[in-house]
Amino acid sequence: MYKAPRGTVDILPQERAYWKYVEEKAAYLCQLYGYQPLSTPIFEDSQLFARTIAGGTDIVDKEMYTFEDRSGQKLALRAEGTAPVCRAYLEHGLFNSPQPVRLYYFGPAFRYERPQAGRYRQHHQFGFEALGDAAPILDAEVIEMTWRFFLLLGLPRLSLHLNSIGCKLCQPGYIEVLKQHYSAYAAHLCPDCKVRLARNPLRLLDCKKASCQKIAETAPKITDYLCRECQEHFQNVQKYLEALGIPFQLNYRLVRGLDYYTRTVFEVEPQEEGGQSSLGGGGRYDNLIEELGGKPTPAVGFAAGLERIILSLRKQKVAIPALPKPDVFIAHLGERAKIETIKLASRLRQAGIAVIEATGDKSLKAQLRQANALGTSYTIIIGKSEVESQSAVLRNMITSEQKTVPLAEIARALEQGQKA
Ligand code: AMP
Repeated sequence: MYKAPRGTVDILPQERAYWKYVEEKAAYLCQLYGYQPLSTPIFEDSQLFARTIAGGTDIVDKEMYTFEDRSGQKLALRAEGTAPVCRAYLEHGLFNSPQPVRLYYFGPAFRYERPQAGRYRQHHQFGFEALGDAAPILDAEVIEMTWRFFLLLGLPRLSLHLNSIGCKLCQPGYIEVLKQHYSAYAAHLCPDCKVRLARNPLRLLDCKKASCQKIAETAPKITDYLCRECQEHFQNVQKYLEALGIPFQLNYRLVRGLDYYTRTVFEVEPQEEGGQSSLGGGGRYDNLIEELGGKPTPAVGFAAGLERIILSLRKQKVAIPALPKPDVFIAHLGERAKIETIKLASRLRQAGIAVIEATGDKSLKAQLRQANALGTSYTIIIGKSEVESQSAVLRNMITSEQKTVPLAEIARALEQGQKA
């Protein structure tokens, strides 16, 4: 028996109500803020991710799904959503439109991680990006949008963490003092942090191991080492968020998992859980587009994992609208009734009425049981005498009322019934 590959899941129809709910709220949010949809391919040149996310991060070192196609081109399944958006921005000359360009996307992302609750090898992201503008007001817009998104979803008990990780000018100085701090504890670091100390020191700050967290507690704070411009930018972002009434918490240990961030970084977490459970996050990435060969182009964005959001909706028992059910079930008895059934079903569907018809030659009782299980509002029954009289029995499954209606008038009767 085949099974879905480890770390992947099938999304069954009963789960889909949650997905529809989240996707509709997300699209509504983006429309309110003037963000337009963009879809990028599921695989890209592997260098697009390797260069932008950068070595020293788990994603590039251990988690990318890379492969060669038949022509020997090195490709990777989408590891995250931002680099492809930037690639599309450059490829289609979107820098020629008025800036910033506001885009959003949905799509799967692939990372070879150790599967656990809320962590998969294929997960789905919703993200939005504003490209081509360095103003702190845009950081505030993206963060406000993030906060509204979770409010729209009905997920209130969240915290919003905010930090600035500086720029090319001030970050290297901070990294030096951070390395000095950690070097004194080198022997006590977990194996991953030993590698981080050499390759990606900023990530030392968000190690989840208790012993490493202790060392992080006394680490120098990046906000004390920001250059004047980064400091001013960060203060402005906070000023705008305060004006908007967005309840953020400063968290100097927040550095995010991807290497391309500059200045503002932020993350949303459920209040009751620990660090592993980020629902979404983002920040500025002012150097990324230049790294991809474009002109220096500041940008800021956000991405959330849909699976984690859905887990949270379930945990917090948020009521989700059910998916629409079919309106009508048609039961039939005998070969001639079968022909009337398929003709009637086809006519009703053309009139916009959702129909499921019985198949085969089951007893009427079995067919009605199926109608009950489907939960349709109406059942139509066509037997021998109904074929003779070109009519059908129309049964309201909620009131159990039943009447005989000419076949030609069924669509109208159903429409009237739906309005009533
Ligand atoms: P990132 O691209 O790492 O910033 O991740 C953005 C969001 O995607 C995170 O906040 C999570 O909600 C979600 N996410 C990241 N990795 C996974 C994963 N392996 N499984 C499920 N969700 C994930």
